[in-house]
Amino acid sequence: MKFHFPVIIIDEDFRSENISGSGIRDVAEAIGKQGYDIVGFTSFGDLSAFAQQASRASCFIVSIDDDEFGSGSAQEVDQALTDLRQFIKGVRRRNNDIPIFLYGETRTSQHIPNDILRELHGFIHMFEDTADFVAKYIIREAKKYLDGLAPPFFKALMNYAADSSYSWHSPGHSGGVAFLKSPVGQMFHQFFGENMLRADVSSSVDELGQLLDHTGPVAKSEQNAARIFNADHLFFVTNGTSTSNKIVWHSTVAAGDIVIVDRNCHKSILHAIIMTGAIPIFLMPTRNHYGIIGPIPKAQFCPEVIKAKIAAHPIASQAKDQTPRILTITQSTYDGVLYNVEQIKATLGSYIDTLHFDEAWLPHAAFHDFYQNMHAIGGNERPRADDALIFATQSTHKLLAGISQASQILVQDAKQRHLDSHRFNESYLMHSSTSPQYAIIASCDIAAAMMEQPGGRALVEESLIEAVDFRRAMRKVDQEFGEHDWWFQVWGPQALPEQGIGQREDWLLDQQDNWHNFGKIEPGFNMLDPIKATIVNPGLNSKGEFESTGIPATVLTKYLAEHGIVVEKTGLYSFFIMFTIGITKGRWNSMVTELQQFKDDYDQNLPLWRLMPEFVEQYPCYEKVGLKDLCQQIHTMYQCNNISKVTTDMYVSDISPAMLPSEAWRKMAHREVERVTIDELDGRVTAMMVTPYPPGIPLMVPGERFNATIIHYLKFIREFNQQFPGFETYVHGLVKKEVNGKAQYYVDVVIE
Ligand SMILES: *Cc1c(COP(=O)(O)O)cnc(C)c1O
Repeated sequence: MKFHFPVIIIDEDFRSENISGSGIRDVAEAIGKQGYDIVGFTSFGDLSAFAQQASRASCFIVSIDDDEFGSGSAQEVDQALTDLRQFIKGVRRRNNDIPIFLYGETRTSQHIPNDILRELHGFIHMFEDTADFVAKYIIREAKKYLDGLAPPFFKALMNYAADSSYSWHSPGHSGGVAFLKSPVGQMFHQFFGENMLRADVSSSVDELGQLLDHTGPVAKSEQNAARIFNADHLFFVTNGTSTSNKIVWHSTVAAGDIVIVDRNCHKSILHAIIMTGAIPIFLMPTRNHYGIIGPIPKAQFCPEVIKAKIAAHPIASQAKDQTPRILTITQSTYDGVLYNVEQIKATLGSYIDTLHFDEAWLPHAAFHDFYQNMHAIGGNERPRADDALIFATQSTHKLLAGISQASQILVQDAKQRHLDSHRFNESYLMHSSTSPQYAIIASCDIAAAMMEQPGGRALVEESLIEAVDFRRAMRKVDQEFGEHDWWFQVWGPQALPEQGIGQREDWLLDQQDNWHNFGKIEPGFNMLDPIKATIVNPGLNSKGEFESTGIPATVLTKYLAEHGIVVEKTGLYSFFIMFTIGITKGRWNSMVTELQQFKDDYDQNLPLWRLMPEFVEQYPCYEKVGLKDLCQQIHTMYQCNNISKVTTDMYVSDISPAMLPSEAWRKMAHREVERVTIDELDGRVTAMMVTPYPPGIPLMVPGERFNATIIHYLKFIREFNQQFPGFETYVHGLVKKEVNGKAQYYVDVVIE
């Protein structure tokens, strides 16, 4: 496999014909002859910009000759050294290992201060050694560096794919050959490329190790990742965090166990409740007037409060053991609210012995002290719990550089109790395919290796800076429009630092702050992760009351989608975007300009056929409707039905369980259910999980009884979808059927 990591030469004379350039050109030619690419830059001034290139280079050769140091006056030498130091610091901020050579014809190392010298791999003094000799020396160092880059599994996989052995094992496409036998297969092969298919192998290849038994190079990579993420144990999972969550649960929860769960958890946790037959006791997060989900108040993380909840629960008394088996918290809620894990460990660590943090959105936090204590598992400065094992499940693919379904389980042992990884693996096997996708394992391996310090910190800091820059940019636009015009708000602290990310304390949710409106929050218990930016549209005032005009998020996000911007999640008057380590300035600046464009089009009330031709082609009924008018129609519909209050109420309403989720599931499997319209739901027990999209957060779990608020909401959705085709809210769990040209919605309910 040939990689392209050029040798980068920075020398003002590189392209000049004079004698002082000839030495470096000879070296370049000699390196080129050995098959290495050379990229030459002639400017010494902006070296810090080159630091950005460090991930593409195999080494740097930096000239320190007369041209760089000017006339040699003390001032010019000082400036040159400052530039050089800045460059080296820029490279080392993210990469300790890439070789940097200084190259001098007239100057030698004695001109260079120690703090620069110690970061170097060599000093080349030309005209004493031959160009060939120097080239070989440089290449040897560059090669050593590149050879050390690939983490264990990825390395083994590359070697295996490069080795053209005939194999009889599955998959049956035999390294991609099967695809070549038909035209569509050829297309597939050409699209994905030979390597992806050659590297798609089965677990019978011994030299790659076994994911399911954690042996060989796979095990080495898991250990490498465990070290990088500060975990005692780490398991790669190739079926997403949905599966990671189920693995953690099945390793410790069985039928009839009491479990403590964040009410706004991911559906995979609810699936785990159904599968294990657990008795769920829910902790209720707060919600603010925008419908943004806040934290579960700290007061709920207390054994006495939880015991009282268990005592009040209609089914929990059936449990043999009244002590909860597990606590699962969504760590980083959809809007980016984090919990102080040390405080949770302190209050619950000796009451519940498995604390599970669903960190699908938080794999980056371990790499920057900005997030100190605000994620599940940290370094040695974070004390272990006495008795509780700490689990974190992370979607590598959501915020780091993993491909879809790349996920991992991290475990921190307690002082008194260690994970028995053999027993744990039984649960791992229960949920894992026996044919794992090796490209996903490789991406777990790479995603971890990329975060090796100091690179991890630099990457996270960059995302944070971009995220705060975006907030500043939005603020500036708002100020320019002034008080009498409208603009979007980015939800978060009022005060933003002039530059950089500011103090961690600025992002803590404080009791005095009125921006979050979650009411009383214990100091230091919660923090907003700046990399999630919730953008709030006009429409609701600070009390959650409707303003006279408004821009429903569903219209805005459709508009953005037609302009090539797809957002992560949509609420009623808000939507959010994420600043992953894949963020670029271009991307977020386009968001700012697109929002400007939207504002212009909205203010002029331009017709939809001009603004969203693709959408109008599908839904001609909007052809002549103005953008502002459409927003107003939907806004009025929300207002008449008081839908902001309804959606908040339904998520915090006490929904009473009539039976265990697993019991409702049993009835569905046994067909002891019936399908009724949403007009007949009063008092019925759902057999389905009911989840409205947006926001995609489960509203009801099987076994719960419909209440008036939820029924009101479902009827509203029916009416809304009828009136605004193309902007429908999809509710998972409802079955839609056309009856006399009108859509009717049904739900499967338990026959009691
Ligand atoms: C996305 C998500 C999951 C599931 O992760 P996948 O990798 O998509 O399976 C679990 N929990 C939360 C909170 C999530 O947002």
